[in-house]
Amino acid sequence: MTDCAYCGCEVEAHDPVFAEHDGGTYPFCNWACLTEYVDREELATGTSCNWEPA
Ligand SMILES: [Zn+2]
Repeated sequence: MTDCAYCGCEVEAHDPVFAEHDGGTYPFCNWACLTEYVDREELATGTSCNWEPA
C-alpha cells in the first residue's frame, strides 16, 4: 500500500496519479491531491516556461 504524498490516504483506494520530482516518485490519490500538494509546496512558483530572447 502507498500513502498519498498530500493527504496520507492509501492511493490504491482511489484513482492514483504519480508525479516525479527531485529524483523521487510522489503518489497521490488523484489530480486534486496532486494540485493541492503543488500549491502547498509552491512547486509551481517561478517554474513556468519562460522564453527569453538572447
Ligand atoms: Zn490524497
